Amino acid sequence: MNVQNTFYDNDLTGYNFVAEIPGTDPLLKSQIVMLGGHLDSWAGGTGATDNGAGCTVMLEALRIIKVLGIQPRRTIRIALWGGEEQGLFGSFGYVKKHIGDPQNMQLSAEQANISAYYNLDNGSGKIRGIYAQSNPAVRDLFKSWLAPFADMGAAGGVTMSNTGSTDHLSFDAVGIPGFQFIQDPLEYETRTHHSNMDTYDHLSIPDLQQAAVVVAAFVYNTAMRNEMIPRKPLPKPEKFIFDLDFPF
Ligand SMILES: [Zn+2]
Repeated sequence: MNVQNTFYDNDLTGYNFVAEIPGTDPLLKSQIVMLGGHLDSWAGGTGATDNGAGCTVMLEALRIIKVLGIQPRRTIRIALWGGEEQGLFGSFGYVKKHIGDPQNMQLSAEQANISAYYNLDNGSGKIRGIYAQSNPAVRDLFKSWLAPFADMGAAGGVTMSNTGSTDHLSFDAVGIPGFQFIQDPLEYETRTHHSNMDTYDHLSIPDLQQAAVVVAAFVYNTAMRNEMIPRKPLPKPEKFIFDLDFPF
């Protein structure tokens, strides 16, 4: 293959990609369900598993909802973030600009309107469950949402554990329920993560298809239920761990 490419060294700005399926319920369409992954990657490979996989799954979940002609009650918003690898710059920048800064916890009206943010960023493996991010109020709800996918291997569990290092943290830090799914590790940590082996041939297409179906169901359920996703108590004001000015 002969790839002819150009480097634009004069534009060093990272960008987020944001798109929506508008909600249809007059009372609920101002509320938002978000899902996302990150578009940037390390330079050694092409970033297929980190995080082309997550972006592909989230886009496919949205396509599934769209082609089924579902009229979601709440608005569904996908965000594919830039600058995640440098320290969650895209998602945290978005949160700081539109929702609020964890450092002072002065929050915009949008904070009350985002029901949940779902993230996928652990490679190409199937979804086996979800990290509840220390929010016991979602445990039984998420278990019931995973149960129909037992025959696809997705009913493995809901753990109360936190997981870090990716974009749901930006939302969790301002009190918006933010979740990362539990995935089959495959060869993510051992081979492809941030390495020159992070290329297309390490993607498992059937696993990505399984993940897209599960994500579509979570997003659909969040968009359709009467209540928003239950929240943890609002965090105390604290500088975000990935804030650009954080003194490492
Ligand atoms: Zn990643």
